[in-house]
Amino acid sequence: MTAHTPPRRPPPPAGGSDFARLSKKIAEAGLMNRRPGYYTVRSIAVAVAYAGGWSAFVVIGAGWWTLAVAAFLAMMFGQVALLAHDVAHRQVFRRRRPSETAGRIAGAAIGMGYGWWQDKHTRHHANPNHEDLDPDLLVWSQDQARAATGLPRLLGHWQAFLFFPCSCSKRSTFMSPAREHLATAP
Ligand SMILES: [Zn+2]
Repeated sequence: MTAHTPPRRPPPPAGGSDFARLSKKIAEAGLMNRRPGYYTVRSIAVAVAYAGGWSAFVVIGAGWWTLAVAAFLAMMFGQVALLAHDVAHRQVFRRRRPSETAGRIAGAAIGMGYGWWQDKHTRHHANPNHEDLDPDLLVWSQDQARAATGLPRLLGHWQAFLFFPCSCSKRSTFMSPAREHLATAP
């Protein structure tokens, strides 16, 4: 009878894992430093453009030019969402309370539940690109694409080319779970 011995893991390389070394390098380069001046200017610019878009929507009223306003507001919604993302990562405010307040205002401006999204996004960063655990995974793995049938299989085959057009419908994946979250929240 032989005793079972678990396989021995290779020792971590000197200086830590690849990720640890990369993290250190990024921090040392100052890329993770907060930039209050930059975010002040960016937030004001986005807020002015967002308000300008809605003002144009009201002033123009029903007409073909409203389509141009819609395209502009779509871009502004994206900018507000990007700001909310940076707020959630505490890149804008150091403390939790102002981060949450700003995040909730930004989320409300684009019809997104900030608390719901933050929980989802935290799980995304905890398990990036994990097929089962990353809720923000936008593309299929080769195994998933192979296992699909019918239209999903066809889409999976062309997913590299369809990535940007399909990203336009990403907002719908934000809205319905957020509505469910609000409906079931205590
Ligand atoms: Zn993130």
